[in-house]
Amino acid sequence: MDQMQESLAYKCPNCGGDLKFAAEKQLFGCEFCMSEFTEAEMKGIAGKQEEIDLQEQEKQQQERQEFAEQTDVYVCNSCGAEIMADCNTAATFCYYCHNPVILKGRVAGEYRPAYVLPFQLNREQAVECLHKWCKGRWFLPKDFLSDAQIEKLTGLYVPFWVTDCDVSARMDALGKRVRTWTSGNYRYTETKEYALTRKANVALKGLPADGATHIDDKLMEAVEPFDYQKAKPFAMQYLSGFFAEKYDMDTAAVFPRVKQRAVQASDRLLRSSMQGYSSISVTSSDIKLMRTTWEYMLLPVWFMTYRHGDKVYEFAVNGQSGKFIGNMPLDWKKLGWFSAGLGLAAALAALLLLFFLGGGGL
Ligand SMILES: [Zn+2]
Ligand SMILES: [Zn+2]
Repeated sequence: MDQMQESLAYKCPNCGGDLKFAAEKQLFGCEFCMSEFTEAEMKGIAGKQEEIDLQEQEKQQQERQEFAEQTDVYVCNSCGAEIMADCNTAATFCYYCHNPVILKGRVAGEYRPAYVLPFQLNREQAVECLHKWCKGRWFLPKDFLSDAQIEKLTGLYVPFWVTDCDVSARMDALGKRVRTWTSGNYRYTETKEYALTRKANVALKGLPADGATHIDDKLMEAVEPFDYQKAKPFAMQYLSGFFAEKYDMDTAAVFPRVKQRAVQASDRLLRSSMQGYSSISVTSSDIKLMRTTWEYMLLPVWFMTYRHGDKVYEFAVNGQSGKFIGNMPLDWKKLGWFSAGLGLAAALAALLLLFFLGGGGL
């Protein structure tokens, strides 16, 4: 009975959900993020879980209430985007799908971010990045750089979960060293095999994942990195004149992505430590996230969507570094003329060739 009570108190070290003991597996499992831990692992981790003291809790409560009072949330009826802005900044259209924003409501205090990375790039600089990118891309649609389109460029704080992960990793591999030499009339090949084992506790810092469903994950990964050193504890004034997307994915929902990146990074690290072999084949690898700490942070992105036909193209400029990411809308008419031109040139060349061949035959 005692043990049962104890097990109920365990929180998932990766997402904070309640852990349940699965007797058949003899493991503590989290049904939110699917992490599993042995009893011994849990005892080791439990000691590290800090308690938030009462005073801190009270302060947090007050900050959340202030945030709720000073923030409006706009809900787009067409695409479902939920956009937050301070009470003095009104959203008149949806930054994502360009439809007029209809519903205005209140935001709950729990959406108050812990940190914000303030914009370093102003609007003019972001527009300049866009112009630079467009140079030489003559097949972009004509209205791509129109005033009406540029106006859609929005300073958007994207809700990010920035994580630190403790990873326990073990990898077994077979390393081969091959040596060949010649002696007399014989050529010798010597192959030596080494059983390699690597065990490591990897501490990953600042692994980000955005918490907005309809912002493309790949786009947000491409716009990285951000320098978190410049992040500030959240204060309302940073929001002034900008918009922030409200997160709709909690830590458990984002965890699979964080886990994948953490596992990949640890895997690379272990592999890179096996140097000096002709070949390496990994026979087994066990990489597990033991603890994840989460910071809810707003990161600055100049965001623009462009509608062409029925497709929405997304563009992002890192609001800190100016890095530009986007996929290209192609003007098929312009491209059509281009290939028609090529076709014509090819036909002419073929005619000329025939002419000369014919000429040679005479
Ligand atoms: Zn969990
Ligand atoms: Zn929308």
